[in-house]
This record gives sequence, structure tokens and C-alpha cells, in this order.
Amino acid sequence: MLASPTAENGPGTLLEALKRRIAREGPLTIAQYMDACLCDPEHGYYATRDPLGAAGDFTTAPEISQIFGELLGLWCAVAWQQMGAPAPFTLVELGPGRGTLMADALRAGARVNGFIEAAQLHLVETSPVLRRAQADTLEATGLTPQWHNRLDEVPGGPAVLIANEFLDALPVRQFERRDGKWFERCVGVSGEGGLEYCSAAKPLNTNEILPQPIRDTARDGDMAEIRPGADAIVETIAARAQTSPAAALFIDYGHETSAPGETLQAIKTHDYADPLSRPGEADLTAHVDFAQLGHVAGENRLQVHGPLPQGEFLLAFGLEERCDRLMGDADDETAKTISSGAKRLVDPAQMGELFKVMALTSEHLTPPPFDGAQAPEQTT
Ligand code: SAH
Repeated sequence: MLASPTAENGPGTLLEALKRRIAREGPLTIAQYMDACLCDPEHGYYATRDPLGAAGDFTTAPEISQIFGELLGLWCAVAWQQMGAPAPFTLVELGPGRGTLMADALRAGARVNGFIEAAQLHLVETSPVLRRAQADTLEATGLTPQWHNRLDEVPGGPAVLIANEFLDALPVRQFERRDGKWFERCVGVSGEGGLEYCSAAKPLNTNEILPQPIRDTARDGDMAEIRPGADAIVETIAARAQTSPAAALFIDYGHETSAPGETLQAIKTHDYADPLSRPGEADLTAHVDFAQLGHVAGENRLQVHGPLPQGEFLLAFGLEERCDRLMGDADDETAKTISSGAKRLVDPAQMGELFKVMALTSEHLTPPPFDGAQAPEQTT
């Protein structure tokens, strides 16, 4: 039975636009579908809204506790010092959301002599709505950001880069193994006029685009997932690191080994949804394969540090001390919020273990806590 048209599936919606595109071009790959759902300039999920926070669809670590951005700011400052405190240098954030992380990071970074004065802020963000939110949030920091759609548009020179929950939003391609061959998973139109999964008619010419550990262990019926956009980001950082020092920190949810499987998920109003049912209306993400990131980084002569579980990283970097200090100045109610926010970030049953932190740096840079050292001194 056909549902009656609504604001989400009637004419002029992304669903209708995708169906017309599929009628013209044939089924879309999962990556093409994800890209359209998230970044279509007219209907894309990020392009048309600010999805963050309790009133939105999902929340992120910097929106839960200011300590997250503050500790990341300190990490950036220490990485910069290890480079020899170059001035100027490029401070980059990929997918800055509302700008909360960067505002907290700059406040903490201001305690390190010369860091803010040397920083030139570059934000990689495709959403006009979120660019406006970032401009508002960062107005008081004294730094004027420059925005870019892609990392390779950011000018060269020494760089410190951070990205929280950015890689998980980059499109993935999926494949299914049948009779020893890999077929790309696609999105087509069902007999009822909705979207459905289907399979490319022809198998992959070469299996080599799949990570070796997946090729070695997969059996018929297994799925595989790759994220070419994440590999490209690592290659861009590696190219920069050939001529200038670079340190990048990625925080995301994902796995430490490359294994068969598929992890595409949709989130709407803090709950799981069907990835195909409301294109452009739900957030679409997939787990980050940290082993693959590390593999591409290593092949491109970057140093790979971690991944560490987020909880371990934040505790080693001084989360408890910062939490105690903030609670000391707060009334009971605020102290409770500070404490529960901090716990949510590090508790293994909440975000502490699923989220992981990996640093990629040019040679001879090993920022803490990856060097085993204790947290840097916090003065206020
Ligand atoms: N880092 C923020 C927001 C995470 S949501 C936080 O922790 O709160 C993902 C962010 O990445 C959003 O800002 C979204 O608009 C941006 N984004 C998603 N896909 C992108 C792409 N392909 N290029 C640039 N930015 C993208």
C-alpha cells in the first residue's frame, strides 16, 4: 500500500529527487546515497539544520561537557609546543558542529603562552546552517575563522588538526560476498515506491580496494565496508607532513581491527531509525575503522598513535583534575551536572570505550598521553 504524501515523501522532497535520479542513472551506491542524505545542498540533513543537542537528534561530547573541548585544546597546544611553537601555524577543525569544541579548546589553549596569537583558524564545514552557528559561538574568541568545504583547500604550513565525530559522517561503500566475489550494495526503488537495498549486477573487478584483513577472513554472505573519504583525509594530512610539521587528533566511535560486517545506522530524535525510510531527515553514520586509518597513515609515512579508548585518553589528560576544579567553584546543582557530564564521557558503559582517540603526526612528534607521560600542568 502506498502511504499518502507528506512533507517528507511528497514532491520536492529528497525521496522524490532520489527516485528520479535512480530512474535516470540506476541504483545508487551506499556512498552516493549517504552523501545525498547528509550533504545535498537543498535537502541534505546537515545542509538544512543544526541537529545537535537535547532538542535535536543526537548529542556529542563537546555538547555534554566543556571539559572535552578544554582538554583537546590543551592537546593542540602541547602538540604545537612539540613542533617548536611555530608562528603562525594553522589550527584546523573538521566538522566543527556548533563550534562548541573549538570555543572551549581556545579558552584552554589561551593559557599556553603564544598559542592563540600564533593560531590561524580554519574550519572545514559544508553546512551553511552550522557555519553560521560556528561564527556566532566563536565570535568572542578573538580569532576569525576561515571556512572551507574540503581539507585540501586549507593553506599549507605547520598544522594542528582535530576532528570529533567527523569521520563517521563520511560516506561508506558496502559490498556483499557471493560465490567468492564481491558485489557493491546499492539503493534502488521497491515495487511499492519506497527505497530498498539491492546489489550491483557485476562483481568488483579487483578485490584490492578492500582491506587485506577483510579479504583474508570473509566468507560468502559477509559484508564489507570501506570509507574512501577517510583514506583521502589521511593522505592529505600525510602530504602536508612532507613539508611542515603536522599533528592530527581523531575522536570517533568505531573498531580497532578491520573485519567483515556493515555498520550503517540512522539516528532520529535520539533513537535508531531505518536508514532508507526518511532520506535527509535522519543522521546517517557508520563506525570508523581505526585499523584502516592507521594502515593508510603508516603507508604514507605518518606516525600512528593509539587508538586509545576515549575514557583512557581523557583521564590521562587530566579530566578528573579539571572536573574537581570546576566543581569546587560551582553550586550543588551545577556540580552534579559537571560530574555526570564528565562521567558520561569516560564511563566504559557510556562513551568511554566505544569512542576512540587516534593521533597521526609527522615524524618525531609524540604528544601526550601517547608518550606515556602524565597530563600537562593545569594552572587555573
Ligand atoms: N564535531 C562536532 C559535530 C559533529 S557532527 C561535535 O563534536 O559536536 C558532524 C559535523 O561534520 C557537522 O558539523 C557536519 O556539518 C560536518 N560534516 C559532515 N559531513 C561533512 C563533509 N563531507 N564535509 C565537511 N563537513 C561535514
